[in-house]
Amino acid sequence: AARRIDQSYFDSYSHMGIHREMLADRSRTEGYASAITACVKANPGSVVLDVGCGTGILGMLAARAGARQVIGVEGSPAMASMAEAICHANGLSASNGGPISIVPGLVEQVAELPVQQVDVLVSEWMGYALLFESMLGSVIYARDRWLRPGGVMLPDTASLFVAGAAANKDDLAFWDTVDFDLGTMRPEDADFSVSFHLQAATEHPRQCSAVVVWFDVAFGSHKGSSWHSKLSTSPCEKQTHWAQALLTLRTPIALQKQQSAMEAGNQDVLAYDLAAE
Ligand code: SAH
Repeated sequence: AARRIDQSYFDSYSHMGIHREMLADRSRTEGYASAITACVKANPGSVVLDVGCGTGILGMLAARAGARQVIGVEGSPAMASMAEAICHANGLSASNGGPISIVPGLVEQVAELPVQQVDVLVSEWMGYALLFESMLGSVIYARDRWLRPGGVMLPDTASLFVAGAAANKDDLAFWDTVDFDLGTMRPEDADFSVSFHLQAATEHPRQCSAVVVWFDVAFGSHKGSSWHSKLSTSPCEKQTHWAQALLTLRTPIALQKQQSAMEAGNQDVLAYDLAAE
């Protein structure tokens, strides 16, 4: 889904409430905290760009971990001033001798930053079902404009999962995985269609009444990285503010065991090309 860069989008990020919800999401904030800390400790003296810095939390984590310089770009003017005030109150703003500079504006439009290039680009850009109204295009733009060759993306991979849902979430059957490499993907790669097959994971034939979509992002998966971590929004993990997206089917699909798969002694497998339904 294409995100409209418009007033109402940034208005929605101008209020503390949404930022409080994100900050209070432990899996999210602690997931970023440990990855940022591991990354900066492994690359001491890094220069970090925080794309869509909001309250400035990710940049402050980088600064505390030892980043030499941190630039936070924020498109909502209200949040940009808020980020500056919060960094200042924490003794981390360039205006009181700290490493963090907040630059108000769209990352696509800022003509100049305090540096020519950065070593690390961090951003929390993920939307519902990963791509819904996500700011991925802006992050890719910032990567191509400001990240030095060989620099680190945080996160650096994202995976999209799809499962069939019956009445019971323990019966989730995994279908397929779509992986993005944040270091190399192009904006148009996020606009795709795939067909996938459902594998029924239970003994008994079931009705599939909805498709569940969720995502993971990983940090430090690039070659030569000495650290690695993952932030998962799976229904099997601790609930995050992204929850999961449920796409209900107009007509439930009856799942049946596939004879040949059973004869072969494999897991029960069957068989629907949803794209064709
Ligand atoms: N980094 C913060 C906020 C994440 S929410 C945190 O982790 O808590 C995403 C933020 O990015 C919002 O504050 C939104 O206003 C900002 N944003 C979205 N698109 C942007 C763009 N193109 N340029 C600059 N900021 C953007």
